[in-house]
Amino acid sequence: MPDCLFCKIAEGTIPARLVHQDKDTVAFEDINPQAPFHVLVVPRRHVATLNDLTRDDDQVMGKLFRVAATLAKEKGCAESGYRVLLNTNAEGGQVVFHVHMHVMGGRQMAWPPG
Ligand code: 5GP
Ligand code: ZN
Repeated sequence: MPDCLFCKIAEGTIPARLVHQDKDTVAFEDINPQAPFHVLVVPRRHVATLNDLTRDDDQVMGKLFRVAATLAKEKGCAESGYRVLLNTNAEGGQVVFHVHMHVMGGRQMAWPPG
């Protein structure tokens, strides 16, 4: 088991404000939210970056999108709109090396992102 923050949140040894969990995924509020609604959806299995995914991860990565949409609906921003993104490696802005999907809403998003 790598020394990984999001593995520890997923297994419950580091606290977080969980908003969803199932056998494959966990979702929790971002500690430094960039929008009124900002959660991270992660696979329970440790995968460092998108580059490290294997065929075995296909199903759970698909599930992350459905969890994201379910949470956006629950938060009431599904119709107004929201943003889903995954940062990868240094130039992508990744700082936690356990794959995580950002789900953000509740304000107008800008494009292009900074
Ligand atoms: P990245 O830049 O790797 O895509 O995003 C990492 C995200 O994790 C950041 O938005 C950051 O605020 C969030 N984060 C970092 N440490 C913690 C923590 O201990 N708890 C929670 N809930 N979020 C964290
Ligand atoms: Zn991990």
